Amino acid sequence: MTEQSVANIGVVGLAVMGSNLARNLASREGNTVAIFNRSWERTETLITEHPEAGFVPAHSYEEFAASLSKPRTAIIMVQAGRGTDAVIDELTKVFEPGDIIVDGGNANFHDTIAREQAVRETGIHFVGTGISGGEEGALHGPSIMPGGSVESYETLGPILASIAARADDGEPCVTHVGTDGAGHFVKMVHNGIEYADMQLIAEAYDLIRRGTGKTPAEIADVFDEWNTTELESYLIEITAQVLRQTDAETGKPLVDVILDAAGAKGTGAWTVQNALDLGVPVSGIAEAVFARSLSSKAAQRAAAAGVLPGPSSEDWKPSDPDAFIEDVRQALYASKIIAYSQGFDEIIAGAEQFGWDIKKGEIAKIWRAGCIIRARFLGRITEAYASDPSLVALVLAPYFRDAVTEAQGAWRRVVVSAAEAGIPSPAFSSSLAYYDGLRAERLPAALVQGQRDFFGAHTYKRIDKDGIFHTLWSGDRSEIETEPSWH
Ligand code: NAP
Repeated sequence: MTEQSVANIGVVGLAVMGSNLARNLASREGNTVAIFNRSWERTETLITEHPEAGFVPAHSYEEFAASLSKPRTAIIMVQAGRGTDAVIDELTKVFEPGDIIVDGGNANFHDTIAREQAVRETGIHFVGTGISGGEEGALHGPSIMPGGSVESYETLGPILASIAARADDGEPCVTHVGTDGAGHFVKMVHNGIEYADMQLIAEAYDLIRRGTGKTPAEIADVFDEWNTTELESYLIEITAQVLRQTDAETGKPLVDVILDAAGAKGTGAWTVQNALDLGVPVSGIAEAVFARSLSSKAAQRAAAAGVLPGPSSEDWKPSDPDAFIEDVRQALYASKIIAYSQGFDEIIAGAEQFGWDIKKGEIAKIWRAGCIIRARFLGRITEAYASDPSLVALVLAPYFRDAVTEAQGAWRRVVVSAAEAGIPSPAFSSSLAYYDGLRAERLPAALVQGQRDFFGAHTYKRIDKDGIFHTLWSGDRSEIETEPSWH
């Protein structure tokens, strides 16, 4: 160690996320933070604006490496993709075996698996880490989902714990999720669940607005009230704030002047793409992603509006508005349980596919604070997996099963009302359809198998005996026992 090697942790990339994370690190006792950014301006701004942080700035990767004590530990917070690769290339030149490179950006977990494999050959640890909570979280305490080797977590764990959000019981929201890409995988599913949660809340708002004629500010009061129930969450809380906001220019509710085209940065789509690859039905998340896509199809929507007929929600009003609002609350809760249940199914399938030992209850625990989907009911998920680690589906845990049982009458009424009124509720209705599919003793998949066998000789199994069968559809239609189809 040289005299300069004073920092125990470094941050590369000092745009909004990196500089906030560096400030968070520096504010915790025991940390001295080395900082480096490709262009010097950002470094200069940060040290000038935050002299209290005691940053150790570097002009080059060599200087940055020299300023770190061993094992050197650096968190990369740069533009995901090529930016990350460029920084990894530079750091591997100046780091040594045993040092740790952490990628805290929003990387695709497949890239993280490949990067971990490549960096491992140098003897350096590479830790893909999901960090949730946006700018505020980075500064005050995010939820942190590190992957990488168990060995690297021995050094990294205490540092990450020092900056992570703390749940009500004081526990830091960080855990070693699993090896290589596990952290980024779980962060991806977190974002997918976030999409579903947001879409469900948006549908609830739309149904209440069109059903009861309440103003956005009045609906904000409804959400505030819901935030004292089992729906209590960051997203419900900020929804009320957004709905209460008035546009300074027009005096209208802000939500009425925002263009109704939802953007996306891609992690929701990744969640769905990977769910398709893994064969996991994440219908709530998928509908949420598609709902954003539909909202952005301006030309199609303009061409269809007023041309495609349907009921007008103007003609439909619930007989008891208060009872309807309560129904919507229950439908939201039930659909949310389904979205989380599906998200955890994807985590379980991913863990199996990629060989990660992911503790589901621990994941719910580290989402209790700091991240966008933080919510009261995450504690219930932890409890569910603690009492039955091999739970087949989250919705089958006694607490959640009772919750959906209680809500299902309201849930069905809401989906029926939405269909009758012509109000789109893709996430509510697909969640209910999934629920009914899951609980069905028999599905029409039997007919699909019959169709597949008819046109493609894809074969089928029977319910009454073992074996693979095919009906000679173009012959005498007798059944033969056969080998599994290669189709
Ligand atoms: P950003 O705009 O994504 O990236 C800008 C930073 O990347 C700058 O420091 C820039 O350096 C650096 N950079 C870009 N290409 C580089 C290269 N080839 N070599 C070295 N440095 C390079 O920054 P951000 O918004 O702070 O986000 C950082 C990461 O966090 C991203 O991966 C992003 O996806 C993720 N993120 C996460 C959340 C969250 O809630 N978890 C929120 C936002 C962002 P220069 O100054 O020299 O251009």
